[in-house]
Amino acid sequence: MLKPIKYSNWKRALVACQRMMKTFALWLCNPAVNSHSIAEAELIKVLGSRIEGQWLWHFLGRKDSKKPLLIHASRLADLNIADKTNLEKWIVETSDIGGYFTLVPAVHLLPVARPLPVDEDWTALQKLMEAFYIKGLRDGLPYSANGTITEDRNQQVTYKDFKSDFLQLHKIDSDPDAREVCVVCASELGKAHVDHWVGKAEFPLLSVCAHNLIPMCDDCNEAPNKGTGKVHTGGSFQEWFHPYQRPPAGKFGMKLHPADLEIELQSIDPSDAPRVANLNTLFNLTTRWSKEARAEYRKVQRSLERRQVEKKAVLTAQEIDKALLDLAKNLCEAEPNYEVHTALYQVICAPARLIAWQTELKNDFDEKVASGLV
Ligand SMILES: [Zn+2]
Repeated sequence: MLKPIKYSNWKRALVACQRMMKTFALWLCNPAVNSHSIAEAELIKVLGSRIEGQWLWHFLGRKDSKKPLLIHASRLADLNIADKTNLEKWIVETSDIGGYFTLVPAVHLLPVARPLPVDEDWTALQKLMEAFYIKGLRDGLPYSANGTITEDRNQQVTYKDFKSDFLQLHKIDSDPDAREVCVVCASELGKAHVDHWVGKAEFPLLSVCAHNLIPMCDDCNEAPNKGTGKVHTGGSFQEWFHPYQRPPAGKFGMKLHPADLEIELQSIDPSDAPRVANLNTLFNLTTRWSKEARAEYRKVQRSLERRQVEKKAVLTAQEIDKALLDLAKNLCEAEPNYEVHTALYQVICAPARLIAWQTELKNDFDEKVASGLV
């Protein structure tokens, strides 16, 4: 997350969906509601809109593991009063992570304990709420880009719309043929996946939440990198960055150590140091970026070695200097790994590095001569 992260243009549609999920979940917690209360007409009344009510009724008819989602909703509607009270409080506290960055962070903690003691009840909540993402967003939520309710399928937000809009927004070179770069690690994006910053399995009310969805590369999204790694410490976000709410862009720099080409992340403000360390641990950035720096270094080394073979003589200091500067001129901000490569070229183009280059290249040339390759 070296560059700022922007909300997708579908943000309002996601906000509207989360409002629907919260309203529905809270209604299920109402002591007067039970499984017999769940009907299309009732949902229309609860949500205050025919389109949303009908969409939700149809959604509850969709199947998860061969059973309609209505089974999960019914189970929750039939919870006892004590569980409903607990769940209601928990829904209010976990349905918006934005508040955890605006209120006093040390005091305001995301509740990490499950609100329902019976596993089957908890699973019902998880499956029902996650289905809004897995099934609902996949096929289309009843909201257009500006958050208004719509039954026009061409205007409804889908997973595909959200992801492609986000990726387009973050392309430095918007040409369709230009390479795409991961917003987290700045390497080539490849097949992007939408990550739930705060895990949806533990906080299913956040499965469709504008603050919680961020497309990133496979490497970043999967273990041993982020995977299901936590982005808070026991519910506190104090020592953590957040892609939208507390963005890390501009809060840390990248230093490359010349001796071993290891990258070190350095926080600009010392108070951000724990956040930088946590971000690094979550995505293994220094390991991955150091590997990339060394791979690029090897590429440069090979290029210089090839020039010597073509010249049939060791390169002079001026020739090395010019060749390195020519390579450095090819760096382009819109290309993958730009920041790592920039840090590398700053080190390898430095005058202090020239003697090391000359020694390395002379040794390689001598070896090639001895092996009859030149
Ligand atoms: Zn990545």
